Amino acid sequence: MSLHQLTITEAHEGLRKKDFSARELTDACLEHINAVDGDVHAYLSVHDESARAHAQSVDEKIARGEEIGIMAGIPCAIKDVLLIEGTRTTAGSKMLEHYQASYDATVISKLKKQGTVFLGKTNLDEFAMGTSTENSAYGPTHNPWDLSRVPGGSSGGSAAAVAASECIAALGSDTGGSIRQPAGFCGVTGLKPTYGAVSRYGLIAMASSLDQIGPFAKTVEDAALFFDAIKGPDPHDSSSAAARTEQTHQSLKNPIAGMKIGIPKECFIDALDPVIEKSVRDALEVLKSLGADVVDIELPTTPYALSVYYIIQPAEVSANLARFDGMRYGTRAAWTKDLAEMYSKSRQEGLGAETRRRIILGTYTLAAGYYDAYYKKAQAVRELVRRDFANAFRTVDCIVTPTSPSLAFHIGEKSSDPLQLYLEDVFTVSANIAGVPGLAVPCGFAEKDGAHLPIGMQFLGRHFDEETILRAGYAYQQATDWHTQKSPLS
Ligand code: GLN
Repeated sequence: MSLHQLTITEAHEGLRKKDFSARELTDACLEHINAVDGDVHAYLSVHDESARAHAQSVDEKIARGEEIGIMAGIPCAIKDVLLIEGTRTTAGSKMLEHYQASYDATVISKLKKQGTVFLGKTNLDEFAMGTSTENSAYGPTHNPWDLSRVPGGSSGGSAAAVAASECIAALGSDTGGSIRQPAGFCGVTGLKPTYGAVSRYGLIAMASSLDQIGPFAKTVEDAALFFDAIKGPDPHDSSSAAARTEQTHQSLKNPIAGMKIGIPKECFIDALDPVIEKSVRDALEVLKSLGADVVDIELPTTPYALSVYYIIQPAEVSANLARFDGMRYGTRAAWTKDLAEMYSKSRQEGLGAETRRRIILGTYTLAAGYYDAYYKKAQAVRELVRRDFANAFRTVDCIVTPTSPSLAFHIGEKSSDPLQLYLEDVFTVSANIAGVPGLAVPCGFAEKDGAHLPIGMQFLGRHFDEETILRAGYAYQQATDWHTQKSPLS
């Protein structure tokens, strides 16, 4: 196996034993990026110089005989909505083409302290709105399993970078599924932590009551280690809180015998591809064979979750994105006759069609005459979705569903129909609405039109109980080898 294909755990072992240096590991990733990213387009920028310099300093530490932490010297890719001081952060938007971050996001400063190497920033749907990474102002990312297909989104660049072994692990953000759905499409592991488990400080805000930062990795074990490295309360983010378990990776290997796993009947909808249903049902058999007790449950508000999401999310977008007006933030349009025209032209030129659509929808539902009919009602139903989960978690320890109703689709196949793309989020948005954690793992492959495509499923857990879903996912990966399959470009 080549160095760039290693997991965090394997790379850490190799560094500790001095089988290779952090510099060699980083160089291997950078060389592989050079070799394949022309095809994949996972990265918007590659920070080779600073990556090598950070790797060098980890090597010096090792040479001095100092102990290194698990994330030290690990080359990671970062979704381009997270600020790294002094580097360009575009959020996939033309509006921020020239924006240089003036401070580090909390997750970045935490990782910097631990010696993590940042390879560069990854592609995404503009401001993280989308499910295919086709809404990026910088062109789409391609799925490493079949380059004619999308990697999912919005964190498509980070998912593809892990699937193509263009990094050891990556960070993404998930507002309605943007970690779990691309993880599913690309056959990698992705964790959306509980709302508040990871500080959002330095994440370009999209829908603040739903946004969470989380890791992409090659295994559940890596995802747990990465999560432990970034979580925790932060005075800069008043919604952040302490996780229930100090170190989730320590209990990862505890058996799951007796664990109660719920399977909601609402997820077997007509739109679900039968091949995905079969894989998820097979996975449940595997979990049963490990001693889990799989039971049918009901989440009656599931059919409304998508509607709630597509009212609340655009409403928050319209408020958060008001700052990108060419004056406070963003590229300013040239040659305008007055202030009003300057605002409208800057936003017209700087923001893509989907972003403008959501701003308009959000402004509409927040407008005086419509607020009660849409926004207020959506908030009321949000509470019902929360209660659904609270009820379910009285009887089960975690819930399993598919990550998406369909397999990775072709670039361009759905881009002309926003509703088709919104339907992709049917299984993922509820977790954000309720704030509960979700872990996506590969659970099979499908042969479609000559392509070998990954299938994903997710474990949902109680608030701040990442420990249980990680333990279930770890046990599942010990019993299966879907996650060890490598894409042709890895
Ligand atoms: N696909 C969803 C959307 O378009 C979710 C995006 C996300 O989680 N960032 O809004």
